[in-house]
Amino acid sequence: MKKEEAASESPETEEASSLEPPSYQQDNKQQVQLSIQAPPSTVFTVSLRSIEFLTRHFPGSGINDWNNWQWQVRNSFTSLDKLNTILGLSAEESNSKAYGKNLPVRITPYYASLLDPTNPAQSLRRTVVPVAQELNISPGELEDPLSESHDSPVPLIVHRYPDRVLFLVTNFCSAFCRYCTRTHMVSKQDKVHSSQTEWDKAIEYIKEHTEVRDVLLSGGDPLTLSDSRIEYLLERLHKIPHVEIIRIGTKVPAVMPQRITRDLVNMLKKYHPLFLSIHFTHPDEITPEVMDACNRLADGGIPMGSQTVLLKGINDDAQIFKKLTHELLKIRVKPYYLYQCDPIPGSAHFRTPLESGLEIIRNLRGFTSGYAIPHFVIDAPGGGGKIPLLPDYVVGREGDDLLIKNYEGKTYRFPDYI
Ligand SMILES: *Cc1c(COP(=O)(O)O)cnc(C)c1O
Repeated sequence: MKKEEAASESPETEEASSLEPPSYQQDNKQQVQLSIQAPPSTVFTVSLRSIEFLTRHFPGSGINDWNNWQWQVRNSFTSLDKLNTILGLSAEESNSKAYGKNLPVRITPYYASLLDPTNPAQSLRRTVVPVAQELNISPGELEDPLSESHDSPVPLIVHRYPDRVLFLVTNFCSAFCRYCTRTHMVSKQDKVHSSQTEWDKAIEYIKEHTEVRDVLLSGGDPLTLSDSRIEYLLERLHKIPHVEIIRIGTKVPAVMPQRITRDLVNMLKKYHPLFLSIHFTHPDEITPEVMDACNRLADGGIPMGSQTVLLKGINDDAQIFKKLTHELLKIRVKPYYLYQCDPIPGSAHFRTPLESGLEIIRNLRGFTSGYAIPHFVIDAPGGGGKIPLLPDYVVGREGDDLLIKNYEGKTYRFPDYI
């Protein structure tokens, strides 16, 4: 909803707009908005769809429970039996061997409310509900395809590039994506959040390595830690003189937007420059709740990028992908990377031919804002790092002229003397 419309509906404009979250008009009647006033530090948009889901499946709980992220974690769907209560599971989805053997199952009630209970082929449902195909191992699939354990000088640190490190602060996620690149890590259920002693050793490594100017916190999902534990990490890293920027890799804003409280944002913004890389997959994830969460983050001055894994039948359609990028820009998230799906065990049913990714990029460049275009990359098996792939725009040479093709396929010349 546009600001002016909101104002015209509410006589106490000034006051109301500063207290109430923005509400959004959706095409779909299912998503008619209600703005629920919860306790002051947690004012959240709640869609009618969420309320219906809550009422049907958690009759003993209310809106304040729903908006409490710890409640979302505690009440997540983690077993075949529990999923059976909300979804009509297909034969493929009911294979009990697919539950917990490779990768645990975990879906927040919020994300579960977005799943189509009758259609196993629905995009969001396929990303989190396990299927029997996960048990099939195809040629070239590996436990740790990126060889992260090889590039790990101390536990929890992956130091692959000259000036930045990946710091895996937890094995826990609020939702497990079925194509997770760190399946080998997060599946170790016995060890969930890492201990402070392990963190301290990793921080010590970063302190000693003055070339590290960029620290990327990932896991697992760092935003599943409490505010005080996140702050423990940020405070220590922020103090290190050579650490210029800190980034957090997360899917929490998409699967548990209730976690993005004002308190969290107020804490995060003390540690600028702090960036967030959010894992978004499909335009259906951009709900009023998610818009609200991302607006809070953006208003906290946190630059946001999105990392998307290309998935067969889910987001490999050029029009769907373009829609995702447009929806992201509207909530101030810059599409950052588009990944070819890593060859983790049992992921063949998700993997697309490379040409699909190139076709998506070809369909964006020139046809839409440059800001909407991510880098399409393969994270090279064996620890080679991210390698960019681009459609071929260079046609060839004619003497001192370079022949290049524009987005419409027309050829141009550019003087390029050797
Ligand atoms: C992806 C990644 C990074 C960050 O790479 P950027 O291209 O700077 O976003 C750093 N370390 C590792 C091991 C990574 O996989």
